[in-house]
This record gives sequence, C-alpha cells and structure tokens, in this order.
Amino acid sequence: ANQRSVRLHNTGVARGTMAGVSLAASEEHEMTKIERIGAHSHIRGLGLTDDLTPKASAQGMVGQIKARRAAGVVQNMIKEGKLAGQAVLIAGQPGTGKTAIALGLAQSLGSDTPFTAISASEIYSLGMSKTEVLTQAFRRSIGVRIKEETEIIEGEVVEVQIDRPATGTGAKVGKLTLKTTEMETIYDLGNKLIESLTKEKVQAGDVITIDKATGKITKLGRSFTRARDYDATGPQTRFVQCPEGELQKRKEVVHTVTLHEIDVINNRTQGFLALFSGDTGEIKGEVRQQINAKVAEWREEGKAELVPGVLFVDEVHMLDIECFSFLNRALEDDMAPVVIVATNRGITRIRGTQNMSPHGIPIDMLDRMIIIKTVPYQEKEIKEILKIRCEEEDCEIQDEALVVLTKIGVETSLRYAIQLITLANLVAIKRKEKQITIPDVKKVYQLFIDEQRSQKFLKEYEDEFMFDEGTDTMMETS
Ligand code: ATP
Repeated sequence: ANQRSVRLHNTGVARGTMAGVSLAASEEHEMTKIERIGAHSHIRGLGLTDDLTPKASAQGMVGQIKARRAAGVVQNMIKEGKLAGQAVLIAGQPGTGKTAIALGLAQSLGSDTPFTAISASEIYSLGMSKTEVLTQAFRRSIGVRIKEETEIIEGEVVEVQIDRPATGTGAKVGKLTLKTTEMETIYDLGNKLIESLTKEKVQAGDVITIDKATGKITKLGRSFTRARDYDATGPQTRFVQCPEGELQKRKEVVHTVTLHEIDVINNRTQGFLALFSGDTGEIKGEVRQQINAKVAEWREEGKAELVPGVLFVDEVHMLDIECFSFLNRALEDDMAPVVIVATNRGITRIRGTQNMSPHGIPIDMLDRMIIIKTVPYQEKEIKEILKIRCEEEDCEIQDEALVVLTKIGVETSLRYAIQLITLANLVAIKRKEKQITIPDVKKVYQLFIDEQRSQKFLKEYEDEFMFDEGTDTMMETS
C-alpha cells in the first residue's frame, strides 16, 4: 500500500538561510542528538500537579517539597511574564538538588526551552573576558523558534538519470522524472538532490517526497496499488493514484536554535565548526547587533518567536563585583533569560571588594532576587532518588543492596552514593551477575573513597605530601 504520510526529518539543526543571516552549520553535517546519561538525565520536570502541588515523586523529582512548590510559583510568574528584571537564588547545601530544580523548572516551561548550567568559576578559566563568557551563557539560554514554510512534492519516480562528467568541477548533473496525478515533472538535479537520491537508493517505481526547501528526499514505498499487480516477478503496474491536492503540500517546519548558535555560525573569525569544538573565542559586538536586528525583524514578520530559557549559575559567590554589575544590567534586557543562581555559602566576602554580604552577593543584586531554600534529604528520599538513578542507568539492584547504598548516601553524600551505582554495576557485570548485590556495593565502597575518608586519609599522611603548607615552599613563584 502507498503510504501517504509526509514525514519531516527535523534533526534539531536549523537549515537554510533567512534573509542573509545563516542558520545552517552545514548542509552536509546533520547533527544527531545522542542521548547521554548525565547527572540529571532522570529529571523531566518539577513533578507538580496542575495546581502546582509537588507530588512526592514524579518526573524524576523526589522530596524537596517546599522548594519545588516555590519553583512552581516561579514557573507561573515566568509564564505570565512577571519575572522580568528579577532573578532566582537557590540556597542550600551541596547535593540538595539545586541544579536539579533549575533544570526541572526549565523543562516545565516547554520541551524546547534552552537550559544552560555554568559554574561561576568558569568565568575566570577560559581565554575570554568575564563579560564575554557571561554574554555567551546568556545567549545560549535564549532560543529562537523559527517557522519556515516548505513545499513537499509527492509522486512516483518514472526515471532517474545521473551523469557524472569525467572532467570538470566534480559537480554532478542529472534529471529526475516524477509523475504526479496528471503531470510528469522533470527536475534538473543539483548535487544536493543527487546525494539525497543516492542515499535513499531511489529507483523508478518508488514513491518519494521532495522537500523543496532542503532538497531532502524521503522514500515512502513502491507504487503498486493492487495486490494482483504484485506477483513473483515483482510489481507489474507502476501506477500511483495521487488525488489532487495531495501533490503539493505546504508544511510548516519549526526549529529552535539559540542566539549563541546563530552568533557562532555567523562569526567569521572562527566559523561554524566552533559549534562542535566549543572554541568560539570572543564574538564581536557588531555580529551580535546584526543578529539581534535580524531576529527582531523575523519576530515582526511573524517568522520567529523568542523562547526565553533558563541560565543556571552555580557557586554564584565566585562571581566578582564586576560580574554582578553586568548581571544587574543584563537582567533588564528584554531578551534576558530566566537567571537562577545557586550557592551554599552564608555571609561571605563579595569577590573583588572588602565587603561582606549574604551569599557573597551585593545587596542591590540580592534585592532583585527571589530566594528559594533547599534542605538536606531524609533517608527515604535518598533511597527513592537512588532507585530512580538505578533505573536511569539501566542497573538492576537487589533490595538489600539498595538499603546498603542508601545508608552510604546518608553517611557520606547523595552524590557519592549515585556515583557508586555505575561502579557497582561494573563489578556485578564482571562477576557475570545481572543484579547489583551487597558485595558489589561493599567492594566499590572500599575501592573508591568519599570526601570524609579522603580528608581523614590526608590528615593521617599529611607529612608525607610534598606540597603540604609549611613544609615546603617549592610551589611559590613570584
Ligand atoms: P551542588 O551545590 O554541589 O552543585 P546541587 O544542590 O546542585 O549540588 P544536584 O547536583 O542537583 O545538587 O544533586 C545531586 C544529584 O542528585 C544529581 O544527580 C541530582 O539530579 C540528584 N537529585 C538531587 N535532588 C533531587 C531530587 N529532589 N529528586 C531527584 N534527584 C535529585
């Protein structure tokens, strides 16, 4: 049977150009999204009911009820556009889910909401100015949802001819004859179409669709309409019934890219490959201005809309006074993302000054902040999180082993216990076991030490360490 559906392959990378500003990394390089198990890949939202009440465990989120309820209120404020000029501070001890909540909030805003997480100390470690790092992080957190109309032509292939000239530029030529209901259309083929035809192994008799905007060809099947047409020698009748109106379909393709991606692609100094290497260097102000102007134009024409994302800055006490004043200003911008900062510090010195302040954040900045507190987890919550992580990592764990792992989580830290899952699973696999059992957990607990044991170890042997303070001045340079 003929399949009539038109499938669109959206690879997550915008293609083509819109009025001079390039959106394509490369027509040939299609980016495939590889799902990776990251520290927070089990988080799929804030786990709230419709009236924003946190469920005990939902969407990968466990416990931390008050903080999640507060995040739900913030989510509402964002949706109603009432958070402009403000930021959110999540304060709490390490491993209490600050990053997880920020990510859950981003996800609850929509599946294409960009989420960027940076640690404030990164600002000092790259070969760029501090404000450039912050600007890039801001622009990574703003999505541009681009709508493009494309025409899809569907029909049966009558003939494909591809000629490869022996000499010349290497350009391939050829033609494609496509039969739709009433007409035969002959296409002169460019390289792009030929590659697509070759890739899909298109032959006469195939029913294909051609996306006019991208030149992408999709094979829908062979064109035999009745069972009797198909006997031992193959399809006899190559006839396809295409009711009129189905021949050409207008489809709207929507893709979301970030402002930063558009910046990088249009940045002449490094070029689009920087998108893959991450080595973007500084991007000129004028490039950004041009892009902002273009995006504003597309918005006016209804071709694009902005998707404000979430920028999460961990260890915010590491930012200095200059960065805070940059943030203060950047929050006012009408293209600003939702900024969520986090810290586990109490009253501490504001970097770059002699002044003390709560969380090391200047008072004028704190004044703009909505503060959410996270609290340490109870044993049963730790157990639930570990169970979810085991499922996420495709590890089966025996109940008793989960109890032991939970104890370890309570005594040491949640993060340490989470890390032991993969390791214990490797030990189990080595023993050709399907499940993680108590001996596996014990083994990795002995092999890999946690922070407390590491400290104890250092204390016991401190005299033997080369660069211990007071014993040696080798490291001092002036
Ligand atoms: P730090 O201050 O050290 O950056 P954090 O407060 O940001 O820590 P997370 O990194 O969010 O803590 O949490 C540690 C791990 O525990 C992560 O893998 C996270 O996804 C998971 N986790 C934390 N809280 C929850 C929760 N409430 N539900 C599910 N998973 C959680």
